[in-house]
Amino acid sequence: MQQKRIALTHQKIARYRKDWHYKIAHWLVNNYDFIACEDLNIKGLARTKLAKSILDVAWGNFLTKLEAVAVKRGVWFVKVSPHGTTVNCSNCGHKVPKTLSVRLHECPQCNLKMDRDENAAVNIIKKGWQIHGVGLIPSACGGFVSGQPVKQETSEKEYVQLSLF
Ligand SMILES: [Zn+2]
Repeated sequence: MQQKRIALTHQKIARYRKDWHYKIAHWLVNNYDFIACEDLNIKGLARTKLAKSILDVAWGNFLTKLEAVAVKRGVWFVKVSPHGTTVNCSNCGHKVPKTLSVRLHECPQCNLKMDRDENAAVNIIKKGWQIHGVGLIPSACGGFVSGQPVKQETSEKEYVQLSLF
C-alpha cells in the first residue's frame, strides 16, 4: 500500500514535470530567437549520491525536450562549455573566483556587480553567440535576432535565466 502510494506519487510528479517542461520549452521558443545553455555532464552528475542528482537528471531531460522543441520551430539552440561561466566577469572577462556561498559577482577590474547566476547566464549567452552567431545582435526584448538591434525603451532583461528545478 505504502509502496503503491509512493509509486503513484512519483508518477504524478513525473507527469507534472513533463507537462511543465514542455510548457517552459514552448514559452522560451515563442519568446526567444536564440537559446544557449551549459553543456553539463548530466550523466556524470547523476552518478553522485547527492539529492541534487535528481534535479540534474530533470534538468537534462528538460534540455533534451527544449532542444527538440527549438529545432522543430527553427530557433537556435546551442550548448556551451560550462568552463569559466561562473568565474569570468561577463563584462570584462576578468577572473573572479568565488565559492558557492558567494552569491554576488563583484569585479575588481570593471566594478560590475550582479547576481552570480546572472553573470553566468550572460557568459553562457555570449559563448553561445560566439559559437553560433555570425551577424547576431542582442535584441532589446530577449534572445538574439539577426539584423539591426531593435531600439526600444525597456527595462526588460535581454535574456532569461533558468535554474535547476
Ligand atoms: Zn569585470
